Formats: sequence, C-alpha cells, structure tokens
Amino acid sequence: MADLVADAAGRAPDHPAVIDVTSAVSLTWAEFDAAVSAEALRLGEAGVAPGERVLVRLGNGAAFCVAVLGALRAGAVVVPFGPVAVERELEIVLDDCRPAVIVTAEGDESAQRGAAARGATVLPPPDLAARAGAPVADRGAGGEEIALLIYTSGTTGRPRGVRLSHRAVLANRAQTAALRPAPVLPADRVLLSLPLFHVFGLAAGLLQVCWAAATVVVTERFEPAHVADVLVQQRVSGMAGVPSMFRAMLELPPERLRAATAGLRLCTSGGAPLPPQWLDDFRAATGLPIYEGYGLTEGGPVITTNASDGPPKPGSVGRALPGVELRLVDVEGRPIDVVADPDPEDIDEDVSDPAQDTGLVAVRGANLFSGYWPDGSGGPDADGWFRTADVGFLDADGDLHLVDRSSDLVIVNGFNVYPREVEQVLAELPGVAEAAVVGVPDERTGEAVKAVLVRAEDADLSEDAVRAHCEERLARFKVPTVVEFTEALPRTPTGKVARRQLVTPS
Ligand code: ATP
Repeated sequence: MADLVADAAGRAPDHPAVIDVTSAVSLTWAEFDAAVSAEALRLGEAGVAPGERVLVRLGNGAAFCVAVLGALRAGAVVVPFGPVAVERELEIVLDDCRPAVIVTAEGDESAQRGAAARGATVLPPPDLAARAGAPVADRGAGGEEIALLIYTSGTTGRPRGVRLSHRAVLANRAQTAALRPAPVLPADRVLLSLPLFHVFGLAAGLLQVCWAAATVVVTERFEPAHVADVLVQQRVSGMAGVPSMFRAMLELPPERLRAATAGLRLCTSGGAPLPPQWLDDFRAATGLPIYEGYGLTEGGPVITTNASDGPPKPGSVGRALPGVELRLVDVEGRPIDVVADPDPEDIDEDVSDPAQDTGLVAVRGANLFSGYWPDGSGGPDADGWFRTADVGFLDADGDLHLVDRSSDLVIVNGFNVYPREVEQVLAELPGVAEAAVVGVPDERTGEAVKAVLVRAEDADLSEDAVRAHCEERLARFKVPTVVEFTEALPRTPTGKVARRQLVTPS
C-alpha cells in the first residue's frame, strides 16, 4: 500500500486528520504523519521486521489509528483485535498468528500473560505527541504482501485470520472511488463509531479517509445521544454505521435527530441487513437516505452497494462494484441459471419463497483476500472465484437481494426456512420493535422455528397474535412454533444479531 499518511500529509499538512472525541485529541495530517513515523521507529526498535505481525488491541481512538498506520509503515502485518475480546479468544488468535509485538492498554493482564507465554513483546499505546527525529520511510513491500490480518468474529465457528494484501485493500479503494455519491471527499468529516478493529471501520472507514486526506472523527463507542452531540459539534458530513446504530438514533426526540443530522451529506450502512422499515423511518425523520453496502472481511470488504444518484432500492444491497464480478452458485460452486425476469405464472403465492433462483453469492475481483492465515488455504479458486456463505437472488434489474447466511438455515421436516424471511414478516406486525429467528431442535420435525421478539414501547403483543400474523403470511412450516419476548436482542460488536445465543431459552 502506498504510504497513505505520508501522501495525505504532503497534500494537506494542516488539515485535521484525526479528531478523537473521547480523549479530546486532534491531530493534523502533519502531526499524524510524525506520530506514525515515531510509532514505526518504536516498532523497529522493538525488533519488528517486515512481514512480522503486530497485534493492536486498543479501543477506538487516535492511538489506535497511529498504532495501525505506524505498524504498516514498519512493514508489519497488522492484526487489529477487539479490546473487549475475552482471554480465550485472544489466546486462540495469539497461537494462530504469533505476533512479535502486542500494542495494548497498560494493565492488560491477558495480553501480558499471552505474550509472556509466547515470547512476544507488549508495548503501551503510542505516545501521540512523539516525533521521530526524521521522517521514517515506508518499509512495506506492498503488492501481494499481507497488510491486514483480520480475524472474523467466529459467529460461524472458530475465528479465522483473513489475509488481506496491500493489493486487495488498494483495489477495493479504487473500486469504490468512482461511486456516486462519493464515499469520502477531501472536505468530509467522517464519523466512525464503528469498532475500528473490524474491517468495516478500518478498511472501509479509516483507510478511505486517509486516501482522501479527509478527517476522521472517532468516538470510543456508539451512544445515540452522544453521537447526536458529536455530529453537530464536529460538523460531521458522513457517517458509516451498522443498521442497529441508525435504528437507535431514531429513538432520539425528532427535533434533536433532525438538528443533529442536518449537516450530513452521506449515511452508509453495512455489515448486517438494513430493514426497509428502518430506511423509510430514517428518511422520514431526517430527510436523508441510507445507502447500503454488502461486504465481508474476505472481500476487502465491499462487494456491492446500492449507492446511486437516485434513492436506494429498499431491501436490495445493489450491484457489484465496478471491477468486481458476482454470480450465484450451488454448494459445489457451479453457477446456477439465474432467472433474471421470472414469469409471474411461476410465482407460487402460497409459499412466500422468492420467485427468483437463489444461490450462494460468489465473487471475483482484485479486492479478494489471499486465503486464511497461515497458509492461504480457503481463498479464491483457480479461476479467482470465492464462494461466500451468503444466499441471495438477483431481481429483474440485476440487483442483489440477500436471503440469509446458509449457516443460519433452519430445516423443518426437510423444508428450508431462512430466518430472515420470517424476521421480515414479524417486523411488519405492529407492536414488534425487533425480531430474530433461529432453529431449535425438535423431536418431531428435526428443527423448529423459534422467534424472539422485542415489543415496541407500550405494545401489548401476545404469542397468539404473533402466530396468527405469521399464519396469514407464511407457509405453515415457516410459522414459529416457539415465541419468546425479550428486552433487547443480543448483538455482536459489529451489529449482527448473535443468533446462536437465542437458541437456548432466555
Ligand atoms: P463470521 O464469518 O465468523 O461470522 P463475521 O460475521 O465477523 O464473522 P464479517 O466479514 O464481519 O464476518 O461479516 C460478513 C457477513 O456480514 C456477510 O457474509 C453477510 O452475511 C453479512 N453482511 C454484510 N453486509 C450485509 C448487508 N448489507 N446485508 C446483510 N448482510 C450483510
């Protein structure tokens, strides 16, 4: 990867680079560049050689940004890692990637223990005021060398290290550069409350801001009332979030929300499905559309977007980025025949399955990862295609709709139920604030559909009403046989409903 920070500092030395709201630190591009040099030097002195791993276990903030960009300048492979992850998760990752250095908060005993057992060095967060004597040259080789090693959250099993090369990250930037509305313009102030250790916040957020020499405004976490203040105080123009963040903002008093979002030109959502209702509600409340992208760590991350000159199409994640190819395949990886324009006669109204052919989304493009750590296994096939675990279909316009993750499929008496379809039907029922659906073991039918619902404020909603609503709209085998109510759905740090936690009774 070209040295993004040095380039930005050359173009806009006095322009704000990072505004860390939590610690009230603000760095211009020249200051950020100097701190990045000092960090690269510090890592070199700690013995980090190009290609070695540096695990960064810091919360969102300027120190995280300096640590990551400094490690890249030192030619290291950056392993961004969540500060809230428990010791067992850290141990798995340490054993897998064997970092030379762990940059973490002082007093992080799990990291100390993990490092001591493996001969790694622990360094405290970088000193933001530190300056190297002279600029430090980029030691990164670029190209096929690995820049980022990002562990997936493991919602589908053991965390796996996704190897993203400099080439992949650069390609994804080039593929998004021509989109309209533009993802990041030099004058933008982009709010990132997303976890920066995740690919969305890091590659699609922070690195995009570096390329544009724009300004990133970081908060340690997402809290709607605080974010509303930050949007105004920091004159934020762009906000990237997961759907649950936009929904949480809708709970602010209407005048407050409208005032807070008045300066925004762009809102983008990704990482989890954005229910059309939330899109509509957000637009009604703020006048702003939310553009949705679909991506995954292995895709570097962005694969599709519905960003366009016009309003986004609800329910669709849009088309592949320019330079990215997309097709639907079966489990063996064979392309399926896509009925782009189905004959209405073929649509079976009784079962609300999409009329279109569904398949697993497969992707080809220079943005793809180089397989999993350490040996690159599981990467794109010999023809360059990577098959995701996402099931989708293409509508008559060629826009992609995601049905669900294949791993979340529930099989009732041999019939397939995609939880998301049932969740969408449940979301239409007045009184339902949120809904999640999972499969639970059932002696008679193998698996049964279980719905977990959050009632809207003051709503009086019974199990029977839920079932009656579903019976009218879904084939019998899709109707939830277990219905539970809860205060809030469990979510991963990246905004996905942690469906697995819902399998056992609450
Ligand atoms: P794991 O693969 O172990 O579960 P993870 O969830 O952290 O880890 P990510 O790369 O963060 O992995 O998530 C990518 C997945 O998120 C996609 O495969 C898809 O299922 C889902 N996703 C991303 N964007 C969207 C979207 N716009 N709509 C629906 N789902 C989305």
